[in-house]
Amino acid sequence: MRARPTRVSCTVGAMTDRYGVVGSPIAHSLSPAIHNAAFEVCGIDAEYRAYDVPAGYDEFCGFVDNARLRGLSVTLPHKENALRYAGRNAEALASKIGAANTLLLAGAEPYACNTDYPAILSAICDVLEITLDDLAGVKVAVLGAGGAARAAVAGLAACGSTVRIYNRTRARADELADEFGAQAADWDDRGGLDAAIVVNATSVGLAPNVDASPLPAEALRGDLVVFDTIYNPLETRLLREARAAGARTIDGLEMFVRQGADQFQRFTDHEAPVEVMRAAALATLSAG
Ligand code: NDP
Repeated sequence: MRARPTRVSCTVGAMTDRYGVVGSPIAHSLSPAIHNAAFEVCGIDAEYRAYDVPAGYDEFCGFVDNARLRGLSVTLPHKENALRYAGRNAEALASKIGAANTLLLAGAEPYACNTDYPAILSAICDVLEITLDDLAGVKVAVLGAGGAARAAVAGLAACGSTVRIYNRTRARADELADEFGAQAADWDDRGGLDAAIVVNATSVGLAPNVDASPLPAEALRGDLVVFDTIYNPLETRLLREARAAGARTIDGLEMFVRQGADQFQRFTDHEAPVEVMRAAALATLSAG
């Protein structure tokens, strides 16, 4: 096991800056499409590729140390490794979440941060036309207690929202609630939720199980904001039924594009062309 990274300089002979996404599996990632589209429209000489690196901290370090990248998007199973790689150079809430989806590698030291929770928060604020401060005291039901739920709970709790976590495995809901000052509830009680916002951070409804929904249709009301983190399919059964009930909805692609746009800005110091990135993601999704 190694303790500290010793990286090869990220500046390569050619002028082209290199970025990428690391994970496993990674072949179906939308990240190369959105970042390369953004580089192109912004006239930035850069390339962004997907790298399949097997699980393990040593494997992760070996890859990052030799890949000569200026910035890296990080997905499963490496989000914890990315945080560990950066050591103390990490955003405070990323450290508390225990996972980083972004590594900045152009400086003298690597820096780790998490753009998932700001993506969730900003998508909610935009739909409700409120600021982050307005989220204080708002009741939110989070379905799930895995990685996506962790980002949602951490971000919402940091804003002072009243968060209740419903998870199939109750012990995981209890643990997550304890960590972030939230409440935990039984999965079977989710139909009677008392909240203004619902975030589905389970994989219920994810393709190919597109007929599944994490909530009964009767639980959906017109005054709810319903956020489904799933983006395959783009319109899940949950979102379809929420719209039918008159609720405002946010799809998982909105979260994905926002976390990517935030990364792009951090990678390049250039304002992200969000609409171009969204269109690239949609085109890639519909190409199958
Ligand atoms: P995890 O594997 O960490 O968590 C999965 C969660 O789903 C757990 O809470 C699990 O409950 C729950 N779950 C799985 N199957 C069922 C079921 N049949 N009934 C009830 N609950 C179930 O996954 P992630 O947190 O990484 O991903 C969760 C979702 O978030 C995925 O659909 C993924 O697509 C989405 N996501 C979207 C992103 C975006 O950018 N839009 C980014 C990351 C994730 P239990 O604890 O009981 O196993």
